[in-house]
Amino acid sequence: MGKPTGFKEFDRLTEPYRNAMDRLVDYKEIYTDHDEALLNKQGARCMDCGVPFCQSEEGCPVYNLIPEWNDLVYKNRWKEALDRLHKTNNFPEFTGRVCPAPCEGACVLGVNEPAVTIKNIECAIIDKGFENGWVVANPPTQRSGKTVAIVGSGPAGLAAAAQLNLAGHEVTVFERDDRIGGLLMYGIPNMKLEKNVVERRVNLLKEEGVTFLVNADVGGSGENAIAIDKLLTDFDALLLATGATTPRDLNISHREGNGIHFAMEFLYKNTKSLLDSNLEDGNYLSAKDKNVIVIGGGDTGTDCIGTSLRHGCKSLVNFEIMPKPPVDRADDNPWPLWPKIYRVDYGHEEASGKYGQDPRVYSVSGKEFVRDDDGNLLGINTVEVDGNFKEIPGTIKFWEADLILLSMGFLGPEHYVSEPLGLELDKRSNYKAEYKNFLTSNAKVFAAGDCRRGQSLVVRAIDEGRLVAEQIDQFLLA
Ligand SMILES: Cc1cc2nc3c(=O)[nH]c(=O)nc-3n(C[C@H](O)[C@H](O)[C@H](O)COP(=O)(O)OP(=O)(O)OC[C@H]3O[C@@H](n4cnc5c(N)ncnc54)[C@H](O)[C@@H]3O)c2cc1C
Ligand code: SF4
Repeated sequence: MGKPTGFKEFDRLTEPYRNAMDRLVDYKEIYTDHDEALLNKQGARCMDCGVPFCQSEEGCPVYNLIPEWNDLVYKNRWKEALDRLHKTNNFPEFTGRVCPAPCEGACVLGVNEPAVTIKNIECAIIDKGFENGWVVANPPTQRSGKTVAIVGSGPAGLAAAAQLNLAGHEVTVFERDDRIGGLLMYGIPNMKLEKNVVERRVNLLKEEGVTFLVNADVGGSGENAIAIDKLLTDFDALLLATGATTPRDLNISHREGNGIHFAMEFLYKNTKSLLDSNLEDGNYLSAKDKNVIVIGGGDTGTDCIGTSLRHGCKSLVNFEIMPKPPVDRADDNPWPLWPKIYRVDYGHEEASGKYGQDPRVYSVSGKEFVRDDDGNLLGINTVEVDGNFKEIPGTIKFWEADLILLSMGFLGPEHYVSEPLGLELDKRSNYKAEYKNFLTSNAKVFAAGDCRRGQSLVVRAIDEGRLVAEQIDQFLLA
């Protein structure tokens, strides 16, 4: 274990983000450099519990061997820590940056003390690995002669590609966008995950033998279309890892018209323009000098806040239909469950720094959008709601807005791939396939990640990608 008395000697200290006001002027990552001495001490706090809940089902979805690498970091044995980390997680540089760290919610120390800073330690191990040249391509020594097509290059598709390639199968990943990475590339903004971090890993996968095809819209109808039938005949197995990309709309009066956009349109265009031209091509939705309202919370809402602030918006409000969460766990939310508590994410901190207050307004619901006679957006009327989302009479309020971003979650995958395959869907319109089996109603087609489970987390997509690879491997070798 770390240091037997470490949890008594050292307080929890997380690595700080860059100063909120400084980072608002750029799109660089919000993180500061790793502090090895601090991380040694944080590793020392791990108690190496008999039952490490951090790496159990309630904790880390990929079952990272957390106490083992905490101990190795405490002892400055970083290379061995990296080897342990890579055993369970193909892409710790992604999770170390963007994972909400359910492991920390399940840390046994967290029963009565602040949890070990597991996510910081994970990120430092892999970053050190890259810095020292320890992360190198590891191509398979033998090929099986079997071929797999993967549709979608998000974390699920990438993890499956890595594992299937390692097993010796020839893997081709088809991606409809012009860059590889799914939401790692065009969803999560640069300040949370710099895109050279994604490209670095994709380049390693290429070196290991994975083939990537961009602008390849499987089942689509445009100029980049690739017929799904062709994939079925040309490959021995097919994996759908297409994500849950259908956004939830807010169908209230005056929805149609200018000024109202889905969050993903805003975030996608911003990252593409940033990467293509450092935002000089103007091919993005600008929030500059605008009164912005973001409807809906979560990671997507926070990313809209952070991006709007960087554009130089005039004002910013974020509506949340749920009541404000408690500061501490509620009685019905005990350890080791994910703590449903009030959190201040990077965008909230930045908005507070700029405007002097947190942008979030709780327990409000959109009633109607408001437009002038020419149809231009003026704002939105809202109503307050109680804990059961019942409207509270007499609480209608008008909020001025030039730009409203809808960030209310996702309804499941698009279906232009699943329809020609005749795939069964589950009740939430995801591709139907059991967890740990992943086979769809088509005997040659597997599904994993958000398209199977609904919009979730990067770490869960990696977990599904790894597990579906095992199933496809068995299918190919049967
Ligand atoms: C704005 C935003 C921020 C987020 N922030 C976080 C975060 O901070 N932490 C976290 O853990 N999770 C976060 N998430 C969730 C996380 O990104 C997803 O759960 C994860 O990326 C899902 O991985 P996936 O591989 O299943 O799908 P995706 O990442 O969605 O990738 C699917 C890919 O399939 C491609 N595709 C779809 N159809 C086709 C087709 N027909 N042909 C070819 N390609 C196709 C898409 O273009 C896309 O590239 C965020 C999500 C969003 C939207
Ligand atoms: S992947 Fe997420 S849950 Fe797992 S150890 Fe890393 S931060 Fe924790």
